[in-house]
Amino acid sequence: MSWEGAGFVDHHAHLLRVAAGRAHGCDPSDPEAVRAYHRRVSDRWSTPMDEVERPVELDDGLRGSLERGLARAAAGGLVEVTEAGMHDWAYLEALLSLRARGPLEVRVRLLVASGIADVGRMQRTGDPWLELVGVKFYADGWLGSRTCAVREPFADQPGDTGILFLDADTLASRADPFAEAGWTIATHAIGDRAIEAVLDGYERLYGSDCADAAPRIEHAQVLAPDLVRRMADLGVVACVQPCFAVADARTARAALGEQRWEDAYRWDRLLDAGVRVVAGSDHPVAPLEPLVGLQLLATGESLDGRSTGAPTLSVERALGIMTDAAAGTVVLSDDPHRVPEDELSAIDVVEANPAPQGRSW
Ligand SMILES: [Zn+2]
Repeated sequence: MSWEGAGFVDHHAHLLRVAAGRAHGCDPSDPEAVRAYHRRVSDRWSTPMDEVERPVELDDGLRGSLERGLARAAAGGLVEVTEAGMHDWAYLEALLSLRARGPLEVRVRLLVASGIADVGRMQRTGDPWLELVGVKFYADGWLGSRTCAVREPFADQPGDTGILFLDADTLASRADPFAEAGWTIATHAIGDRAIEAVLDGYERLYGSDCADAAPRIEHAQVLAPDLVRRMADLGVVACVQPCFAVADARTARAALGEQRWEDAYRWDRLLDAGVRVVAGSDHPVAPLEPLVGLQLLATGESLDGRSTGAPTLSVERALGIMTDAAAGTVVLSDDPHRVPEDELSAIDVVEANPAPQGRSW
Protein backbone atom coordinates (compact mmCIF):
# COMPACT_ATOMS: atom_id res chain seq x y z
CA MET A 1 0.00 0.00 0.00
CA SER A 2 1.52 3.30 -0.98
CA TRP A 3 1.34 6.26 1.35
CA GLU A 4 1.27 9.99 0.64
CA GLY A 5 2.47 12.66 3.05
CA ALA A 6 4.30 15.96 3.36
CA GLY A 7 7.44 16.06 1.24
CA PHE A 8 10.93 15.79 2.67
CA VAL A 9 12.82 19.07 2.86
CA ASP A 10 16.59 19.28 3.28
CA HIS A 11 17.42 22.60 4.94
CA HIS A 12 21.19 22.11 4.87
CA ALA A 13 23.07 20.31 2.12
CA HIS A 14 26.01 20.92 -0.17
CA LEU A 15 24.28 19.36 -3.14
CA LEU A 16 25.28 21.90 -5.79
CA ARG A 17 28.91 21.82 -4.70
CA VAL A 18 28.96 18.02 -4.82
CA ALA A 19 27.10 17.89 -8.14
CA ALA A 20 29.64 20.26 -9.65
CA GLY A 21 32.47 18.03 -8.43
CA ARG A 22 33.80 20.62 -5.98
CA ALA A 23 35.30 19.07 -2.86
CA HIS A 24 35.26 20.74 0.54
CA GLY A 25 38.48 22.49 1.62
CA CYS A 26 39.64 19.20 3.14
CA ASP A 27 38.66 15.53 3.31
CA PRO A 28 35.74 15.52 5.80
CA SER A 29 36.40 11.88 6.76
CA ASP A 30 39.93 12.63 7.99
CA PRO A 31 39.85 14.45 11.38
CA GLU A 32 43.54 15.37 11.19
CA ALA A 33 43.11 16.94 7.76
CA VAL A 34 40.01 18.82 8.97
CA ARG A 35 41.91 20.04 12.02
CA ALA A 36 44.86 21.26 9.95
CA TYR A 37 42.48 23.00 7.54
CA HIS A 38 40.55 24.75 10.33
CA ARG A 39 43.82 25.86 11.93
CA ARG A 40 45.08 27.26 8.64
CA VAL A 41 41.85 29.12 7.99
CA SER A 42 41.70 30.50 11.53
CA ASP A 43 45.36 31.57 11.44
CA ARG A 44 44.60 33.85 8.52
CA TRP A 45 41.53 35.35 10.24
CA SER A 46 39.23 33.75 7.72
CA THR A 47 36.39 31.23 8.11
CA PRO A 48 35.49 28.22 5.91
CA MET A 49 32.63 30.32 4.46
CA ASP A 50 35.02 33.14 3.54
CA GLU A 51 37.73 31.19 1.78
CA VAL A 52 38.36 32.24 -1.80
CA GLU A 53 37.89 29.36 -4.22
CA ARG A 54 38.74 28.68 -7.83
CA PRO A 55 35.86 30.10 -9.92
CA VAL A 56 33.19 27.67 -11.09
CA GLU A 57 32.89 27.57 -14.87
CA LEU A 58 29.38 28.52 -16.06
CA ASP A 59 28.77 26.12 -18.92
CA ASP A 60 26.56 23.24 -20.06
CA GLY A 61 28.70 20.85 -18.03
CA LEU A 62 27.71 22.70 -14.87
CA ARG A 63 24.03 22.93 -15.89
CA GLY A 64 23.94 19.20 -16.61
CA SER A 65 25.67 18.31 -13.35
CA LEU A 66 23.28 20.44 -11.31
CA GLU A 67 20.28 18.99 -13.09
CA ARG A 68 21.45 15.46 -12.25
CA GLY A 69 22.09 16.49 -8.66
CA LEU A 70 18.55 17.80 -8.30
CA ALA A 71 17.15 14.64 -9.90
CA ARG A 72 19.05 12.59 -7.34
CA ALA A 73 17.48 14.61 -4.53
CA ALA A 74 14.00 14.08 -5.97
CA ALA A 75 14.62 10.34 -6.29
CA GLY A 76 15.32 10.27 -2.56
CA GLY A 77 11.95 11.85 -1.77
CA LEU A 78 13.03 15.45 -1.36
CA VAL A 79 10.85 18.27 -2.65
CA GLU A 80 13.12 21.10 -1.55
CA VAL A 81 16.84 21.49 -0.86
CA THR A 82 18.74 24.39 0.66
CA GLU A 83 22.35 24.83 -0.39
CA ALA A 84 24.08 25.78 2.86
CA GLY A 85 26.72 28.11 1.57
CA MET A 86 26.66 28.83 -2.18
CA HIS A 87 30.25 29.80 -2.80
CA ASP A 88 30.03 30.95 -6.42
CA TRP A 89 27.39 32.98 -8.28
CA ALA A 90 27.75 30.66 -11.30
CA TYR A 91 25.47 28.21 -9.47
CA LEU A 92 22.64 30.73 -9.39
CA GLU A 93 23.17 31.59 -13.06
CA ALA A 94 23.14 27.92 -14.04
CA LEU A 95 20.00 27.25 -11.99
CA LEU A 96 18.25 30.29 -13.50
CA SER A 97 18.86 28.93 -16.98
CA LEU A 98 17.58 25.47 -15.96
CA ARG A 99 14.55 27.13 -14.41
CA ALA A 100 13.89 29.10 -17.61
CA ARG A 101 13.23 25.76 -19.33
CA GLY A 102 10.63 24.67 -16.76
CA PRO A 103 10.13 23.53 -13.18
CA LEU A 104 13.19 22.13 -11.42
CA GLU A 105 13.26 18.55 -10.07
CA VAL A 106 13.18 19.95 -6.53
CA ARG A 107 12.65 23.44 -5.18
CA VAL A 108 15.98 25.08 -4.44
CA ARG A 109 16.82 27.55 -1.67
CA LEU A 110 20.19 29.26 -1.52
CA LEU A 111 22.10 30.46 1.52
CA VAL A 112 24.94 32.51 0.11
CA ALA A 113 28.39 31.91 1.64
CA SER A 114 29.46 34.93 3.70
CA GLY A 115 32.58 35.27 1.55
CA ILE A 116 30.64 36.18 -1.60
CA ALA A 117 27.46 37.59 -0.04
CA ASP A 118 26.77 41.08 -1.34
CA VAL A 119 23.68 43.10 -0.45
CA GLY A 120 23.81 44.87 -3.80
CA ARG A 121 23.83 41.64 -5.75
CA MET A 122 21.32 39.67 -3.68
CA GLN A 123 17.77 39.90 -4.91
CA ARG A 124 14.74 37.78 -4.26
CA THR A 125 13.49 35.94 -7.32
CA GLY A 126 9.91 35.60 -5.99
CA ASP A 127 9.96 32.15 -7.61
CA PRO A 128 8.88 29.18 -5.45
CA TRP A 129 11.23 26.92 -7.46
CA LEU A 130 14.40 28.90 -6.94
CA GLU A 131 14.88 31.45 -4.20
CA LEU A 132 17.67 33.18 -2.34
CA VAL A 133 16.97 33.03 1.38
CA GLY A 134 19.96 34.47 3.21
CA VAL A 135 23.58 34.30 4.20
CA LYS A 136 25.59 31.52 5.83
CA PHE A 137 28.28 32.36 8.37
CA TYR A 138 30.64 29.93 10.09
CA ALA A 139 31.46 30.32 13.80
CA ASP A 140 33.50 27.23 14.76
CA GLY A 141 34.95 23.92 13.58
CA TRP A 142 33.70 20.33 13.88
CA LEU A 143 33.47 17.89 16.75
CA GLY A 144 35.31 14.89 15.23
CA SER A 145 38.37 17.05 14.58
CA ARG A 146 38.10 18.68 18.05
CA THR A 147 37.88 22.09 16.38
CA CYS A 148 34.39 23.10 17.48
CA ALA A 149 34.51 25.81 20.16
CA VAL A 150 33.67 24.41 23.60
CA ARG A 151 33.36 26.20 26.96
CA GLU A 152 35.40 23.56 28.83
CA PRO A 153 38.34 21.73 27.23
CA PHE A 154 37.72 18.48 25.35
CA ALA A 155 37.66 15.49 27.69
CA ASP A 156 40.36 13.74 25.66
CA GLN A 157 42.38 16.85 24.82
CA PRO A 158 43.17 18.78 28.00
CA GLY A 159 43.60 22.52 27.61
CA ASP A 160 42.07 22.60 24.13
CA THR A 161 38.76 24.48 23.71
CA GLY A 162 38.64 24.37 19.92
CA ILE A 163 38.47 27.16 17.35
CA LEU A 164 36.08 30.11 17.27
CA PHE A 165 36.22 31.67 13.81
CA LEU A 166 33.75 34.46 14.59
CA ASP A 167 33.01 36.12 17.90
CA ALA A 168 29.67 37.74 18.77
CA ASP A 169 30.66 41.28 17.77
CA THR A 170 32.20 40.25 14.46
CA LEU A 171 29.17 38.15 13.57
CA ALA A 172 26.75 40.93 14.53
CA SER A 173 28.57 43.59 12.54
CA ARG A 174 29.12 41.42 9.46
CA ALA A 175 25.55 40.13 9.44
CA ASP A 176 24.01 43.55 10.05
CA PRO A 177 23.59 44.80 6.44
CA PHE A 178 22.03 41.48 5.43
CA ALA A 179 19.71 41.34 8.42
CA GLU A 180 18.75 44.95 7.70
CA ALA A 181 17.80 43.95 4.14
CA GLY A 182 15.60 41.14 5.48
CA TRP A 183 17.82 38.16 4.66
CA THR A 184 17.89 35.12 6.95
CA ILE A 185 21.15 34.70 8.82
CA ALA A 186 22.28 31.09 9.32
CA THR A 187 25.45 30.40 11.28
CA HIS A 188 27.37 27.15 11.69
CA ALA A 189 27.88 26.56 15.44
CA ILE A 190 28.59 23.11 16.88
CA GLY A 191 30.28 23.63 20.26
CA ASP A 192 28.59 25.26 23.27
CA ARG A 193 31.04 28.19 23.24
CA ALA A 194 30.23 28.87 19.59
CA ILE A 195 26.47 28.50 20.15
CA GLU A 196 26.72 30.99 23.00
CA ALA A 197 28.73 33.44 20.86
CA VAL A 198 26.19 33.19 18.04
CA LEU A 199 23.28 33.74 20.43
CA ASP A 200 25.09 36.79 21.85
CA GLY A 201 25.65 38.00 18.30
CA TYR A 202 22.00 37.52 17.34
CA GLU A 203 20.85 39.28 20.50
CA ARG A 204 23.06 42.25 19.66
CA LEU A 205 21.96 42.24 16.05
CA TYR A 206 18.20 41.91 16.48
CA GLY A 207 17.39 42.90 20.05
CA SER A 208 13.73 42.21 20.71
CA ASP A 209 13.03 41.51 17.00
CA CYS A 210 14.99 38.28 17.00
CA ALA A 211 12.03 35.91 16.90
CA ASP A 212 10.52 37.71 13.89
CA ALA A 213 13.80 37.45 11.97
CA ALA A 214 14.14 33.76 12.93
CA PRO A 215 17.92 33.50 12.47
CA ARG A 216 19.32 29.98 12.37
CA ILE A 217 22.00 28.00 14.10
CA GLU A 218 23.32 25.18 11.92
CA HIS A 219 24.12 21.90 13.75
CA ALA A 220 23.69 23.12 17.40
CA GLN A 221 25.21 19.87 18.69
CA VAL A 222 26.87 20.55 22.04
CA LEU A 223 23.84 21.88 23.84
CA ALA A 224 23.50 22.76 27.49
CA PRO A 225 20.26 23.58 29.30
CA ASP A 226 21.03 27.34 29.39
CA LEU A 227 21.60 27.38 25.62
CA VAL A 228 18.36 25.52 24.92
CA ARG A 229 16.49 28.07 27.06
CA ARG A 230 18.11 31.00 25.31
CA MET A 231 17.35 29.63 21.86
CA ALA A 232 13.71 29.28 22.87
CA ASP A 233 13.57 32.74 24.46
CA LEU A 234 15.20 34.47 21.48
CA GLY A 235 13.26 32.54 18.83
CA VAL A 236 16.38 31.18 17.12
CA VAL A 237 15.80 28.26 14.73
CA ALA A 238 17.93 25.12 15.05
CA CYS A 239 18.88 23.28 11.85
CA VAL A 240 19.96 19.78 12.92
CA GLN A 241 21.30 16.74 11.07
CA PRO A 242 19.33 13.49 11.48
CA CYS A 243 22.38 11.25 10.91
CA PHE A 244 24.86 13.06 13.14
CA ALA A 245 24.06 11.72 16.63
CA VAL A 246 24.55 8.15 15.44
CA ALA A 247 27.52 8.90 13.21
CA ASP A 248 29.28 10.93 15.93
CA ALA A 249 28.29 8.92 19.03
CA ARG A 250 31.61 7.23 19.71
CA THR A 251 33.84 10.20 19.05
CA ALA A 252 31.43 12.67 20.68
CA ARG A 253 31.38 10.71 23.90
CA ALA A 254 35.18 10.65 24.02
CA ALA A 255 35.49 14.32 23.13
CA LEU A 256 32.80 15.63 25.45
CA GLY A 257 32.86 13.29 28.43
CA GLU A 258 29.67 11.83 29.91
CA GLN A 259 27.95 14.98 31.19
CA ARG A 260 28.25 17.03 28.02
CA TRP A 261 27.42 13.97 25.91
CA GLU A 262 24.17 13.61 27.90
CA ASP A 263 23.23 17.15 26.83
CA ALA A 264 24.46 16.88 23.24
CA TYR A 265 22.29 16.15 20.18
CA ARG A 266 19.17 16.55 22.36
CA TRP A 267 16.78 17.70 19.66
CA ASP A 268 13.98 16.40 21.90
CA ARG A 269 14.88 19.04 24.49
CA LEU A 270 14.91 21.76 21.85
CA LEU A 271 11.43 20.70 20.75
CA ASP A 272 10.20 20.40 24.35
CA ALA A 273 11.45 23.93 25.02
CA GLY A 274 9.52 25.24 22.02
CA VAL A 275 12.51 25.87 19.75
CA ARG A 276 11.69 25.66 16.06
CA VAL A 277 13.76 22.75 14.71
CA VAL A 278 14.32 21.96 11.04
CA ALA A 279 16.54 19.28 9.55
CA GLY A 280 19.18 19.04 6.87
CA SER A 281 21.42 16.18 5.82
CA ASP A 282 24.71 18.10 5.50
CA HIS A 283 25.36 15.89 2.46
CA PRO A 284 28.08 14.89 1.55
CA VAL A 285 29.09 14.52 5.22
CA ALA A 286 25.98 12.31 5.62
CA PRO A 287 23.73 10.54 3.09
CA LEU A 288 21.36 12.79 1.13
CA GLU A 289 18.48 10.28 1.34
CA PRO A 290 16.03 11.48 4.03
CA LEU A 291 14.73 7.97 4.75
CA VAL A 292 18.22 7.00 5.89
CA GLY A 293 18.29 10.01 8.20
CA LEU A 294 14.82 9.17 9.46
CA GLN A 295 15.87 5.63 10.37
CA LEU A 296 19.04 6.71 12.17
CA LEU A 297 17.19 9.41 14.07
CA ALA A 298 14.38 7.07 15.11
CA THR A 299 16.52 4.06 16.08
CA GLY A 300 19.77 5.58 17.36
CA GLU A 301 21.40 2.63 15.58
CA SER A 302 23.74 2.59 12.63
CA LEU A 303 22.39 1.07 9.41
CA ASP A 304 23.99 -2.29 10.23
CA GLY A 305 21.97 -2.43 13.46
CA ARG A 306 24.74 -1.47 15.88
CA SER A 307 23.36 0.35 18.89
CA THR A 308 25.24 3.61 19.58
CA GLY A 309 23.43 5.07 22.57
CA ALA A 310 22.63 8.17 20.49
CA PRO A 311 19.53 10.19 21.46
CA THR A 312 16.48 9.49 19.30
CA LEU A 313 13.21 11.11 18.26
CA SER A 314 9.89 9.38 17.66
CA VAL A 315 9.09 8.82 13.96
CA GLU A 316 6.30 11.37 14.33
CA ARG A 317 8.64 14.06 15.66
CA ALA A 318 11.40 13.15 13.22
CA LEU A 319 9.00 13.48 10.27
CA GLY A 320 7.82 16.76 11.77
CA ILE A 321 11.26 18.35 11.48
CA MET A 322 12.16 16.67 8.16
CA THR A 323 9.07 17.45 6.08
CA ASP A 324 7.02 20.45 5.00
CA ALA A 325 3.60 20.12 3.39
CA ALA A 326 3.90 23.67 1.98
CA ALA A 327 6.90 22.58 -0.10
CA GLY A 328 5.23 19.53 -1.63
CA THR A 329 4.23 15.92 -1.10
CA VAL A 330 5.92 12.56 -1.34
CA VAL A 331 4.47 9.16 -2.22
CA LEU A 332 6.20 6.24 -0.47
CA SER A 333 5.81 2.48 -0.90
CA ASP A 334 4.89 2.19 2.79
CA ASP A 335 3.62 4.28 5.68
CA PRO A 336 6.70 5.28 7.74
CA HIS A 337 4.54 5.28 10.90
CA ARG A 338 3.77 1.57 10.42
CA VAL A 339 7.06 0.15 9.22
CA PRO A 340 9.47 -1.22 11.87
CA GLU A 341 11.92 1.58 12.69
CA ASP A 342 14.96 -0.37 11.52
CA GLU A 343 13.34 -0.85 8.10
CA LEU A 344 12.52 2.79 7.39
CA SER A 345 15.40 3.25 4.97
CA ALA A 346 14.13 0.32 2.89
CA ILE A 347 10.92 2.16 2.02
CA ASP A 348 10.82 3.04 -1.68
CA VAL A 349 10.13 6.54 -2.91
CA VAL A 350 7.36 6.28 -5.50
CA GLU A 351 7.42 9.97 -6.37
CA ALA A 352 8.26 13.39 -4.96
CA ASN A 353 5.98 16.24 -5.97
CA PRO A 354 7.32 19.71 -5.21
CA ALA A 355 4.58 22.31 -4.79
CA PRO A 356 4.52 24.68 -7.78
CA GLN A 357 3.70 27.51 -5.41
CA GLY A 358 3.47 27.76 -1.69
CA ARG A 359 6.04 29.44 0.41
CA SER A 360 7.92 27.12 2.63
CA TRP A 361 10.03 29.20 4.89
ZN1 LIG B 1 27.29 21.95 6.10
